[in-house]
Amino acid sequence: MTDTATPAGPIPDRMTGWQVTTPAPVADRPLRATTLPVPTPAADELLVRVLACGVCRTDLHVTEGDLPVHRPGVVPGHEVVGRVVAVGAGVTGWAVGERVGVAWLRHTCGHCRYCRAGAENLCLASRYTGWDADGGYAQYTTVPAGYAYRLPAGYSDVELAPLLCAGIIGYRALLRAELPAGGRLGIYGFGASAHLTAQLALAQGATVHVLTRSAAARQLALELGAASAGPADGAPPEPLDAAILFAPVGTLVPVALAALDAGGTLSVAGIHLTDIPPLNYQRHLFRERTLRSVTANTRDDGRRFLDLAGRHHLHVTTTPYPLAQADRALADLAGDRVEGAAVLVPEPSPAAPVTGRPSPGAPVTGGTE
Ligand SMILES: [Zn+2]
Ligand SMILES: [Zn+2]
Repeated sequence: MTDTATPAGPIPDRMTGWQVTTPAPVADRPLRATTLPVPTPAADELLVRVLACGVCRTDLHVTEGDLPVHRPGVVPGHEVVGRVVAVGAGVTGWAVGERVGVAWLRHTCGHCRYCRAGAENLCLASRYTGWDADGGYAQYTTVPAGYAYRLPAGYSDVELAPLLCAGIIGYRALLRAELPAGGRLGIYGFGASAHLTAQLALAQGATVHVLTRSAAARQLALELGAASAGPADGAPPEPLDAAILFAPVGTLVPVALAALDAGGTLSVAGIHLTDIPPLNYQRHLFRERTLRSVTANTRDDGRRFLDLAGRHHLHVTTTPYPLAQADRALADLAGDRVEGAAVLVPEPSPAAPVTGRPSPGAPVTGGTE
């Protein structure tokens, strides 16, 4: 390490990681396993040994080219749970050995009109982990200390990983849906983010209807307490006060709008959506229905959500994969073959064995009560 960092014991020079070569459909293997230098943290950064990294649909968009290339050869991954192994010389408030969360948002300018208005998620100069900078599909990564999260107790590393994007974005999507107290919420698509958001809404007393094409996901929704679970293009059994679209499928926008009661709101959670077909004003918008998007999150959203997750235990359904099978995890996500959230787990180092790690490929529903 350089003299800008305080290392904790020996840190190797090289590590295993995955890079996006040329973005392409996952079937063409755009992700390549390689040996990379262990990154050197800048003065304001932490060096983090990765313990678990969630696989998010946004990683798929980065890998397949739905999002433009920001950093050629980027290491994806922005749901990182890790251990601080070195701190930059300018860092205060973090110490070697602490558990830390690394999420999508990693830089904002602090002075544009959005930052000044408390909407740093819309910052004109924002930067993102696993898109603008290398992320957690590797044994080590870095994070600016000001964008690192403290993590709640009561969860394993694997359970915490999906909270860092799926959980935070779902929380913001729920806020943006403006669900009234005791209201009726429709959830379209039921993957990692949706299954966490449904639990938050249920904890607030909502009635939740899940609409998704996967039979296994419908079963999980009912187990978690949804009032009904049907196919994605079906109709819920009652009009909705609010809906969240998690599936990146634009044709579901009119379907979900038509399911709203007067005054209802549809919040679109994804960073990427296929084209929305023409809307019919009477069927889809009139009677003061609202359609809105969700763009990333503020750090405040992240802290509030993680605080909620600490006070109200969420059952996090995960499918762990060894880091060596990151390409398979991404292909499974693309093919809708993952229940809950896929999470990459690097091989444990001999000095720090991981115990009780679930076997790869087996969905695991966590819970500590
Ligand atoms: Zn800004
Ligand atoms: Zn994400």
